[in-house]
Amino acid sequence: MPVVDLDRFDFLYARRVRGLRSSAARDLMAMLSRPGIISLAGGFPDTSAFGSEALKRIAAAVADDSARALQYGPTGGLEEIKDIIMDVMAAEGTPARQEDVFLTTGAQQGLDLIGRVFLDEGDAVICEAPTYVGALNAFSSYRPRILHVPMDRHGMDVAAAAEAIQRARRQKVAVKFIYTVPNFQNPAGVTLSGERRRQLLELAREHDLIIVEDNPYGVLRFDGEAPPTISSLEQASGELERVVYLGTFSKIFAPGVRLGWVHAQQGILHKVNVGKQAADLCSSNLSQMLIVAYFRSGEWRGYIRRLLKVYRERRDAMLDALAEFMPEEVYWTHPDGGFFVWVTLPEYLDATAMLPQAIQRNIAYVPGEGFYADGAGKNCMRLNFSFVEPEKIRRGIELLSEVIKERMEF
Ligand code: PMP
Repeated sequence: MPVVDLDRFDFLYARRVRGLRSSAARDLMAMLSRPGIISLAGGFPDTSAFGSEALKRIAAAVADDSARALQYGPTGGLEEIKDIIMDVMAAEGTPARQEDVFLTTGAQQGLDLIGRVFLDEGDAVICEAPTYVGALNAFSSYRPRILHVPMDRHGMDVAAAAEAIQRARRQKVAVKFIYTVPNFQNPAGVTLSGERRRQLLELAREHDLIIVEDNPYGVLRFDGEAPPTISSLEQASGELERVVYLGTFSKIFAPGVRLGWVHAQQGILHKVNVGKQAADLCSSNLSQMLIVAYFRSGEWRGYIRRLLKVYRERRDAMLDALAEFMPEEVYWTHPDGGFFVWVTLPEYLDATAMLPQAIQRNIAYVPGEGFYADGAGKNCMRLNFSFVEPEKIRRGIELLSEVIKERMEF
């Protein structure tokens, strides 16, 4: 095969993708299927826990209604699945009405549609620092300015968010929404406190902004009390106005079905609907019916309890190993749930530059840089604990700490 000139059609590509390249770190990720590598890099749920027997059973139930399963469906989803979504949201104390739920092809599509609906080029979005890389990717198609706001162990610093909004306003930049992953944030593993959630809602009210509450991990809590969702706080005050809640079946069931949802007020959903018609007409009926067949019986609650047990054990294995092996100058977050731990190395270390050496030693992670739009986070990394067995996590952290110590001796 001849070598492909990646820039050959640069004069035809849209400005927004011209010069875009997959990052060096991402290319290294392609090597992660090599046998022997312990990858703490993915963000995968453990789908093996579901089992083929259960899948066969629900697939057989769906096959009984094959013509419908194989057909196009309504853009916003089948009614039955909206009832299931209301149950799932209720499990987190968030009220939902069927007409305020809109089905998407994963929460990822929700992020893209929100970008499409709200962002003109140059508009600003308030994001945590670091933030979910898939949100940065989805929003970047619409060429916004990303205003990163620092976090501490209680989540986004709301006073800093207020300053960022005021600064943007002074520069005549339109701030459109605040994007937050409030529970066990991807990538930092941090949870936004109840107090901050209230303050953030107040801030959005004060400046008449939308809040995008992206909550894929909320029910995956191992310890402590869940603070109320921002959507439930808004609804408790008698309105559903500015909080757009994104949910997904990826972490509580399977990413393979590619189904998520947007819960928002009618005006926003109307625009989202128009966007989804252009994007993919509708999500898969087949996937929706699989979910309905499984979730209708309520069995999913037991399944989540099983998942929690597995993930808690893995989280504990990771935190124990970090405490045992990491040098003193390294610190990390202590998530109460979800999938991720965020590790901060001494400032002079570069986690991206270190990755090839780590992979050579059979351990992989995601360098922190990709979770920022502004090149920050070089001395940080994201570690995933949901997908790897506890013994391998321990060995992986031991290997990683050796690589870090070697770098520190330079
Ligand atoms: N938001 C966050 C914070 C995520 O971590 C993910 C999955 N990695 C998504 C959205 C997208 O999830 P999905 O499209 O699988 O529903």
